[in-house]
Amino acid sequence: MKLSAPVGLKLHRYIYIILAIFSFFIPFWANQYILHVATITFIHILLAVSLNFVMGFAGQLTLAHVAVYGFGAYATANFYIVLKFPYIISIFCGAIFASLIGIFLGFLSSRLKQFYFGIATLSFTMLSHWFFVHGGDITRGASGWFIPKPEFGFISSHNGIFYLSLLLAFFVLWFGSNIAAGPFGRRLGALADIENACGNLGIDTKKLKYEVFIISSFIAGLAGGLLMGILGFADPESFHFVNMIVQFLMVILGGLNSIFGGLIGAITLTGLWEWVREFEGLWEIVLGAILLLLMILAPYGLYGFLIKILPQWREPRHAINTLNVNTLIPEKINNIENNKKISESSIIIENVSKNFGGVKALNEINLEIKEGEIHAIIGPNGSGKSTFVDVLSGAVFFDSGTIDIFGKKTNNLKSHEIAKLGVSRTFQNFRISSRLNVLENVLLGSNIRQQHESGAIIRSKKFLNEEKILIEEALAALEFVGMIDFINSKGNELSGGQMRLVELARGIMSKPKIMLLDEPAAGLSLKHVETAAKVIKKLRDELGVTVILVEHVLRLVMDLSDKVTVLNSGKIIASGSPIEVKDMSVVKEAYLGKRKNVI
Ligand code: ADP
Ligand code: MG
Repeated sequence: MKLSAPVGLKLHRYIYIILAIFSFFIPFWANQYILHVATITFIHILLAVSLNFVMGFAGQLTLAHVAVYGFGAYATANFYIVLKFPYIISIFCGAIFASLIGIFLGFLSSRLKQFYFGIATLSFTMLSHWFFVHGGDITRGASGWFIPKPEFGFISSHNGIFYLSLLLAFFVLWFGSNIAAGPFGRRLGALADIENACGNLGIDTKKLKYEVFIISSFIAGLAGGLLMGILGFADPESFHFVNMIVQFLMVILGGLNSIFGGLIGAITLTGLWEWVREFEGLWEIVLGAILLLLMILAPYGLYGFLIKILPQWREPRHAINTLNVNTLIPEKINNIENNKKISESSIIIENVSKNFGGVKALNEINLEIKEGEIHAIIGPNGSGKSTFVDVLSGAVFFDSGTIDIFGKKTNNLKSHEIAKLGVSRTFQNFRISSRLNVLENVLLGSNIRQQHESGAIIRSKKFLNEEKILIEEALAALEFVGMIDFINSKGNELSGGQMRLVELARGIMSKPKIMLLDEPAAGLSLKHVETAAKVIKKLRDELGVTVILVEHVLRLVMDLSDKVTVLNSGKIIASGSPIEVKDMSVVKEAYLGKRKNVI
């Protein structure tokens, strides 16, 4: 069966193709001015898409994009004029230089968060502008640098740059929408919305930030190189901080978090810009008024407005139309190969302590968790249960002691490395990305086992087949937790209970060996508690998963667990079978107060 793209991706592609064909013929009829504006539009498309990758997709507030654009431009000029490389090669060398700046920005973003990162990038842009003005022979300073018109052999210089810009803009649209509709796009959605869950999903956020800044900067560098060709002049003022506003406008007006939105934003803003020039002294008023009106009417940008009225136009973060996969095969979930017993114990915890300031959240914990058992952790609020799950999953480092998972010490391992050992978890306070729909959120679970991701760029057969299998498994998992009717809902459209079920399905998708569940039944309706119980049972009985269950719904704990450990003030006060623990007076006192016959 042919694996066709999701509807949104297809629709966008039709638009890209129609626009590319239309654009191809522009030089046949247009005058110099129209040709120039069209070329600038392509450059703006490159800028909007590249900025959208870091800001819209990955949620990184960067104010340095204009500087990256500038470095791309000046580097191209140096390769072209000083080193005498052919113009086209110079553009690519300039883009590679811009990616080096991207590495630096990736480094900054892995150190600083949100506004602090924003301020750091603002400072970088100001320093860069100073460098462009005072760069001596490298930038030729404030008076600008004349760039000879590049030669293209059989066509004129203007037409040559036009076609080169057209080619690069549509290639980037094609490339961008392909990688967005796959695991890379999903990871960026997770980075933007639930960075604190990324590690536990096996995502190395540091690496991801470097990747996205390098890709984005490369594209912005291409735009800078093209600008040099079309303007014939390098002027530091083109890369002044103020121009960042134009880039922001394109991305925000068009639509954050979408390649297609970047295209809409670039075309709309470039068109508007040219049109309001006619108003001479009044252009700021006209442009300001139009933008204000547009933002009031379409607060999530033009793309956001479009998908509100036509949801099928949404840009997908998965590669295959769900109609192409066999949805209702519950046995798919059983295809998750049974975990073979490696050793008797999944987890051995020795003398583990964790302090938060003066609070001993975990105090000398010693515990052995057998493979394939459901081990419940109970205790009053604040007794350290979530901290226990956090240290096991690497979400927080512990202060002393050792933890062995399948014989491997995890003391210095980061959460994404622990995830790769087969440890999956859910969160007490849900972590679901609102940039992704339910299906894509669940697919995030399979991030650690996707093998043919690089094929996403060209939508290779291997990649599509793998994506198909993963989507089938995700749908089966969603069917199993009773959320199959919500696959197209966005993460933030769900109730708390529904989010828990989606997190469970996401956990199943990672084919874990160990599953840590932090209050999976809290806030669930009775029916959903039954579902959660079914899932937990299945994990142990059919999939051989070791389950650590932190739970307040005691009926669930008593029914399901093989062993119960009770925490109080960070210490283990009892551990044993549910029946044994139930009758211990120390437990009743600490956990339930002095009332009797409660459990
Ligand atoms: P439980 O999940 O059993 O309700 P927690 O593990 O969340 O308990 O918390 C145990 C103790 O550690 C509490 O006193 C809590 O206030 C404290 N604690 C947990 N996380 C943090 C944190 N990130 N910073 C400071 N204190 C924390
Ligand atoms: Mg808790």
